[in-house]
Amino acid sequence: MASITIRRLEKNYGAAPALRGISLDIAEGEFMALVGPSGCGKSTLLRSVAGLETVDAGEIRLGDDLINEVAPKDRNIAMVFQNYALYPHMTVARNLGFSLRLKGVARGDIERRVAEVAQILGLASLLERYPRQLSGGQRQRVAMGRAIVRSPRAFLFDEPLSNLDAKLRVQMRTEIKALHQRLGATMLYVTHDQVEAMTMADRVAVLRDGRIEQVGAPLDLYDRP
Ligand code: ADP
Ligand code: ADP
Repeated sequence: MASITIRRLEKNYGAAPALRGISLDIAEGEFMALVGPSGCGKSTLLRSVAGLETVDAGEIRLGDDLINEVAPKDRNIAMVFQNYALYPHMTVARNLGFSLRLKGVARGDIERRVAEVAQILGLASLLERYPRQLSGGQRQRVAMGRAIVRSPRAFLFDEPLSNLDAKLRVQMRTEIKALHQRLGATMLYVTHDQVEAMTMADRVAVLRDGRIEQVGAPLDLYDRP
């Protein structure tokens, strides 16, 4: 895993600024939640770190490496979305192994890694199933498995639970938190759900109008009168 260091990041859509000089440090192994009102720039910040947006100014570092100019697929950063598009015609095993196949990893190594990740996520008995044969929670786990399988140096989550029903959302919070601890993973987690941020994150960054308004431990941010 690696730290993420963001310095004076700026991003404009045409003349409209979306990020107005963001600086944020996420330590190696830290779970940082990113909250703020709709349109404040959460998604833009996440996509910039992933390399899906080109930034106009500033620096993004993964560990010591400046990654502004690095292609998304070479960043070693995994992203989990709310619309976890699993390949419907592939089994769970093939969904999990797909990115390794693209990379040309040897079949035996893929099998080992897929089995390992399936074990971590409680998917070992579901490897031969197709996505349509899975529950919502199981699908979400496969989506996380696809992110884990390549051994990324950091994880980005974009409202991963917002399509799930309330009960499952609570369960998945616990599972993602357990995963964070087990992997010692660096995580930047966007949510509009303050309870989610509060219960899961080591620290919470509050974004407003393209700027960081506050960063702190959940209790420091929310427990004040
Ligand atoms: P959030 O994720 O917090 O809801 P976004 O990062 O999606 O916020 O958006 C930040 C600002 O940038 C908003 O004003 C939004 O309208 C604008 N924006 C986001 N994506 C685009 C785009 N592709 N083109 C133009 N404006 C965009
Ligand atoms: P193909 O025959 O096209 O390779 P498979 O479904 O046999 O398709 O396998 C797809 C990938 O998933 C392979 O890379 C394989 O290593 C992995 N895989 C398939 N089944 C399992 C399994 N039960 N446990 C672990 N990995 C598996």
